[in-house]
Amino acid sequence: MTRRAVSSAMALDSRESADAATGRRTAAGLWLGLWRCVLLVLCTLVMAQSALAAGTPVVSNLRIGNHPDKVRIVMDLDQRIDFSIFLLPDPYRVVVDVPEVSFRLPEAAGSRAVGPIAGWRYGQFRPGTSRVVIDAGSPVEVKSAFVLPPSGSQQYRLVIDLVAATREAFLKDSDASIQKHVALSAPRLSAPPAAPAPLPKSDDRMTIVIDAGHGGVDPGAIGHDGVYEKAIVLAAAKALKEALEATGRYKAVLTREDDSFIRLRERIAIARRVDADLFVSLHADSIKDSSLRGLSVYTLSENASDKEAEALATSENKADIVAGIDLSQQEPEVTNILIDLAQRRTMNYSARLAGYVVKEMDRETKLLSSPHRFAGFAVLKAPDVPSVLVELGFLSNREDNRRLNDPAFRRKVAAGLTRAIDRYFQGVQSAFR
Ligand SMILES: [Zn+2]
Repeated sequence: MTRRAVSSAMALDSRESADAATGRRTAAGLWLGLWRCVLLVLCTLVMAQSALAAGTPVVSNLRIGNHPDKVRIVMDLDQRIDFSIFLLPDPYRVVVDVPEVSFRLPEAAGSRAVGPIAGWRYGQFRPGTSRVVIDAGSPVEVKSAFVLPPSGSQQYRLVIDLVAATREAFLKDSDASIQKHVALSAPRLSAPPAAPAPLPKSDDRMTIVIDAGHGGVDPGAIGHDGVYEKAIVLAAAKALKEALEATGRYKAVLTREDDSFIRLRERIAIARRVDADLFVSLHADSIKDSSLRGLSVYTLSENASDKEAEALATSENKADIVAGIDLSQQEPEVTNILIDLAQRRTMNYSARLAGYVVKEMDRETKLLSSPHRFAGFAVLKAPDVPSVLVELGFLSNREDNRRLNDPAFRRKVAAGLTRAIDRYFQGVQSAFR
């Protein structure tokens, strides 16, 4: 941001503070005098009429000002609106949900970096809800958020002040903000899809569902030596089950134990049926560039982190189409699950597990660059089970292919994933203390 832009943002900022006081004085004056009641009735009528005439609220500008002590975000509005804010980690985001609005921002209000804010984007999130997502380069805290009434030439303004915070504080606030947000939005949420009631747990071990990708008519990726992804990942899933159960802390359930075809939706249903504490889907990729190798881990996001991730999710989501099953009739429901805010908390936990997977697997094998990625994998859409999808490596790469075919290597992978899951549960438990 240029120096001039900073000072103009600061000028706006001081006006915003002064307006609150001016607005109160004006309002107080209005209610004095003999015609108090008449005015009140008139005002009520006028307000009701203008609300009717107003229609969809318009956001006419969004400004971000970087100050020594805070970052201030201001949205100019033509009417008062409700808002709800929550935080999402990895990457750090501040999400502002408002009723459906019409964004008519000046071109100059483009999404550019301001101080610790890397950028921002906006749009309709779903019918009835619009959303602004602010990308913070570092952890922040919402110090205050309020709507200022119109004053002088100023319209209503939604003001959000952010201050720097630690990662721990951000994660804590994120959890709290999501819970609050879910509670507030609950009446507006569509009912979750009917799922079989979970079976009662027979012991106090954590239940981990291990999902070997593909199977049956769907071979998944095919290695240069003709090996099938579905066979590699089934072997890896069995090794992981063995490693997890050897600790005595986990009960592992496989979505398939043989070369059978399981629909994506059924894989999620299995996780819910056994009341899974975690869902880990195992895959191996194949790509034209045979030099590319390394492990990566994916969690669900409404936005893919890059084109590669998006393309991969698209190809993995095709599993049911490969088997000749039309998903289109079920897809809207699955899509609703994706955007349900109840899932935000789950997505946070998934992202945490992914972080541990990256740390632990770094000790066992080569990782892809930026190994934690985000994409809309259908199989990760259980709204209440933290889920990750691990691409163990590339069958199109000679070295990855050789390793994935080696039972000793698969045991190393299983050991690393088990340590990551251990760390995840240690973290989750201490967070509840
Ligand atoms: Zn796959």
